[in-house]
Amino acid sequence: MKKHNFYAGPSILPEFTIKNTAEAVVNFAGTGLSVMEVSHRSKEFVEVMEKAIALVKELLDVPAGYEVIFVGGGASTQFCTVPYNLLNKKAAYLNTGSWAAKAQKEAKLFGEVIEVASSKDKNYNYIPKGFEVPADVDYLHITSNNTIYGTEIKTDLDLGVRLVADMSSDIFSRPVDISKYDIIYAGAQKNLAPSGVTVAIVKEDALGKVDRAIPTMLDYRTHIDKGSMFNTPPVLPVYAALQTLTWLKDNGGIQAMNKKNVEKATLLYDEIDNNKFFKATVEAQEDRSIMNICFVMNEEYAELEKDFMELATSKGCVGIKGHRSVGGFRASTYNALPRESVEVLVAAMKEFASKH
Ligand SMILES: *Cc1c(COP(=O)(O)O)cnc(C)c1O
Repeated sequence: MKKHNFYAGPSILPEFTIKNTAEAVVNFAGTGLSVMEVSHRSKEFVEVMEKAIALVKELLDVPAGYEVIFVGGGASTQFCTVPYNLLNKKAAYLNTGSWAAKAQKEAKLFGEVIEVASSKDKNYNYIPKGFEVPADVDYLHITSNNTIYGTEIKTDLDLGVRLVADMSSDIFSRPVDISKYDIIYAGAQKNLAPSGVTVAIVKEDALGKVDRAIPTMLDYRTHIDKGSMFNTPPVLPVYAALQTLTWLKDNGGIQAMNKKNVEKATLLYDEIDNNKFFKATVEAQEDRSIMNICFVMNEEYAELEKDFMELATSKGCVGIKGHRSVGGFRASTYNALPRESVEVLVAAMKEFASKH
């Protein structure tokens, strides 16, 4: 039976990415060698890296003065790379979930950290609004999409300070005004590639303003100056990333992808809101993520959770169990997830309602 992959990460990738990467594992760019066994300095792989960087810039309309890098270490390493490179005295953090809190924790190793607002009081089921950011902070850090809790900041904040965003789970899902940000970073395994590579978009003007010495591998400058080839990059994930970026471009780019994502999310949220057995964990429309849709059984039907899980599983739905800190269900509807998969899940919810 066809599987409908709702995993939160690692997560669904386009068939185009899987197929081309599988081919390159056997025979890369006509070399007769696997992409895993050619030098990263070979002209074939250098071209892969250069194209991947160029496509990120093209798809996201990255303005002059910014550079794109591919590095290892996951988004979690960026939690320390950002303050290492940017935090002189004081930084502001918006606490919208456990990833945001983890980023904040790392920053405390480097200077004073001000938590400008937090939604922890309600298990992170909303995005705080109307908070103030002191003008003298080195930057404000936000997590644009909270993968575990299903909230998303869908507008580009402009609060008069440098802005850093962890976009691990919504990069490439919606248009972003890059000029509003100083650093954007994203682990690849949600919307781009297999785990092992992280993409960062860095405003060069943000660098060189801290007094401390920065270890070579954690210095953004190193990777910018060497075109992400200072050391051996994660070649296979970068190759896969290039496939996904190519697929994105061939399918109309970010605008077209966003339109499909909004349609998929609307389809599912509408069913959750209208089906008396289910309830969305995030109430405010404007805070609802279009990438990770979290819902639970309505209280009076709590004991039926297992039954719905069984029904959805029998229809081929995989990975819809909610994160342990929220419970219930989470359907991740990343770029590569076809609308058909959401339709199958919605049909299962309707069938469930008519059965009970
Ligand atoms: C998954 C995730 C992370 C962690 O990424 P790693 O690459 O595993 O370190 C960080 N932030 C967000 C928003 C995520 O979804």
